Amino acid sequence: MTVRMRPVLSALPAYVPGRSVPGSIKLASNEIAYGPLPHVLDRITEAAAAANRYPDTNSSELLLALSEKFGVGVEHLVVGCGSVSLCQQLVQASAGHGDEVIFGWRSFEAYPIITAIGGAQAVQVPLREQVYDLPAMADAVTDRTRLIFVCNPNNPTGTAVSGVELIDFLDRVPSEVLVVLDEAYREFVTDEKVQDGTGLLERYPNIIVLRTFSKAYGLAGLRIGYGLAADPAVATAVRQTQVPFAVTHVAQAAALASLEPEAERQLSSRVDEVVAERARVTGALRAAGYHLPDSEANFVWLDEGPPAQGGVDAAAFGAGCEARGVIVRAFPGSGVRITIGATAENDAFLAAAADLREQL
Ligand code: PMP
Repeated sequence: MTVRMRPVLSALPAYVPGRSVPGSIKLASNEIAYGPLPHVLDRITEAAAAANRYPDTNSSELLLALSEKFGVGVEHLVVGCGSVSLCQQLVQASAGHGDEVIFGWRSFEAYPIITAIGGAQAVQVPLREQVYDLPAMADAVTDRTRLIFVCNPNNPTGTAVSGVELIDFLDRVPSEVLVVLDEAYREFVTDEKVQDGTGLLERYPNIIVLRTFSKAYGLAGLRIGYGLAADPAVATAVRQTQVPFAVTHVAQAAALASLEPEAERQLSSRVDEVVAERARVTGALRAAGYHLPDSEANFVWLDEGPPAQGGVDAAAFGAGCEARGVIVRAFPGSGVRITIGATAENDAFLAAAADLREQL
């Protein structure tokens, strides 16, 4: 006899993490290339000394710091074990059997998995020219829709929708449907037309904006993200679905230290470097003959398609980069996502990409 599991598990797509290969450059997981700031590392070490104690399950001090940063009351704020955990909690809190969860596709690969585990039905709306198709998503809303993910900028394409498009969309979505504005990469956005979701909290009671310390703040390994809910009832629902003590006090201490003004200044200059490198990598790839959309995130996207139109064979491109010592994230049949790393890492990738293009 084998132990009985829920049938949904056998049909789940696997979450494929970016691979690490010793000796290779990893540009596969949208991480920041540098370790924590020295001052943040000190606070991590201090906090680790209290590892015999459970953490503050409410992340109270961090909530206060976030409240100050964004000028919203703590009752609107939540902290989670990575923002992916907040995505999962929001699905669990809002959607069950027979309910629908809408998101663009291709997008963050955790969305279909957490929707299926929650027992809800995923409604995947294809991207339009690699951008979230918000009008089509609004058309897809039914009376069974409970939650909509808007990944902005989108992982893995790096594209972002404009504020005008987002507002038109939010005006069309019924107010009882929760809209999750997943802004994991918000800090890398430079296009002024792309609206910061936190500026919409007063206007739309059905939104929650998710952010993370994993990307721009460089704390991916500590697992900590946060959300700003327009309606405190949504924040309460997130707290109700949280695994107790899910956010370690080491992560809370690191996040708090990262929000201090000097740390914010240093982290934002790292973000500036990534943005400059993004422009350089994009320009070099286009000069080599690749076609790629403008990215507002810390990665770029090459679409699967005929080389004559600047496209790639994703599986072959991924393998070709790996053979040249650079691990990128290939989605066979769909495209390739390349994280912007440190200058020398990007140079190694660009050399590989130029070489692969020449071999066609
Ligand atoms: N949202 C998006 C769009 C992401 O790409 C990621 C990380 N890959 C996450 C959420 C989750 O990030 P974390 O759990 O590390 O905060």
